[in-house]
Amino acid sequence: MHANNANTPHLILCAREPIRVIRMHLRICITLASLLTFPYSYTMISFDIHARLPNGRGRAGTITTPHGKIETPAFIPVATKATIKALTPEMLRDYVGAHATLANTYHLYLQPGTEVLKKAGGLHQFMNWSGPTYTDSGGFQAFSLGAAYGKNVSKLANVKEGVTIDTDEDASVRLAHVDDDGVTFKSIIDGSTHRFTPETSIDIQHAIGADMIFAFDECISPQESYERQKAAVERTHVWAKRCLEHHEKIKSQKSNLKSANSHPEVPALLGIVQGGRHEDLRKLSAKVIGGMDFEGFGIGGSFDKDDIGTAVGWVCDELPEGKPRHLLGIGDPIDLILGIENGIDTFDCVAPTRIARNGGAYIRTGLSAQAGRINLLNAQFIQDFTPLDPECECYTCKNYTRAYIAHLFRAKEMLAATLTSIHNLYFVVNLVKKARQAIIDGDYEGFKKKYLVK
Ligand SMILES: [Zn+2]
Repeated sequence: MHANNANTPHLILCAREPIRVIRMHLRICITLASLLTFPYSYTMISFDIHARLPNGRGRAGTITTPHGKIETPAFIPVATKATIKALTPEMLRDYVGAHATLANTYHLYLQPGTEVLKKAGGLHQFMNWSGPTYTDSGGFQAFSLGAAYGKNVSKLANVKEGVTIDTDEDASVRLAHVDDDGVTFKSIIDGSTHRFTPETSIDIQHAIGADMIFAFDECISPQESYERQKAAVERTHVWAKRCLEHHEKIKSQKSNLKSANSHPEVPALLGIVQGGRHEDLRKLSAKVIGGMDFEGFGIGGSFDKDDIGTAVGWVCDELPEGKPRHLLGIGDPIDLILGIENGIDTFDCVAPTRIARNGGAYIRTGLSAQAGRINLLNAQFIQDFTPLDPECECYTCKNYTRAYIAHLFRAKEMLAATLTSIHNLYFVVNLVKKARQAIIDGDYEGFKKKYLVK
């Protein structure tokens, strides 16, 4: 649009010149227009809100990306190493009904590396997934697989049983070190030393080539002191600004290489709100990050398992209305329901497939407690010829029994993980789809009553 407007008068002036000269002038005009309009104002994604909950927070909408639409609220399955574990992309699309995937920057940077991804033509081509994609920034993994390597770290904290990370413990056992400029960490593959800064995270994510990427943030243990949490929030804000500046620089460089009629292949950058379980830090972070020119927002860090909805509400009240909000790494069915009603549009989590590989299958009743799943390794399922969840309509539940899948687990057959992962992903993806429909139909309370049976 801007290039056409800028070129129109010049083309009239050039009307009597030879074609070759006109073309040359056109190229100059396009380049000048590119420079004059920097930074580019177009967006790589758009977000439309179709319906809202009466509380004013929850909403149903659509995120439109260059690789298709995501109808929100939506659960985004995690393709950590450019694969949904045990599933083909066709299974994810046709059996699960997922709209998008989220891959992991830390893991793809270490293996196979950005050169392979670039030569493959980017993440979509490499993994044969044609739908929308996200990559996370790599910060959480550099932290959790570095500083906390070998420890039991969770995003849902219980302060009584947590661990302390990145403190003054023996540096020889620490595998990651954070400073004002970035994170130095050791590879979990070969122990080699690497460094992520806000700029390198953005560079790597551009090279991977997802539709939506995240700013690099500092993740620390929820057991750290308030002062340390506050310092991490402030550092995350400085890094967010650096990510935005570097992202704009790459966009500009890519734009100048393209012709006026083609859309530069640049991802949308989403900022990340931190602040742990502290109301003042969460609100401060949401206000600062929400005031920056991101195209959407992620909410990272740890939450109190008993009060995740409240913390999400603090943040969403401060964020701009018209941009999508993603809750990072949260996927328990009950947390999805609480997140949606407090303003979250998209979620990702490895839990459905991880639980599936360990013999766990979600069931509809009792989502408010651990009772919302069964363990197929228990003896009671050896001769149970009913589906994993009698009310589920997924491929696995339509075609296989608990007894068969329990047998596959006991026989250590790979199909066990595939069938159970299809069910668990279908379960959460469709739970969120039903929540979306309930928002549109104006019956979210009815939906909650049905799915929160004690
Ligand atoms: Zn099922």
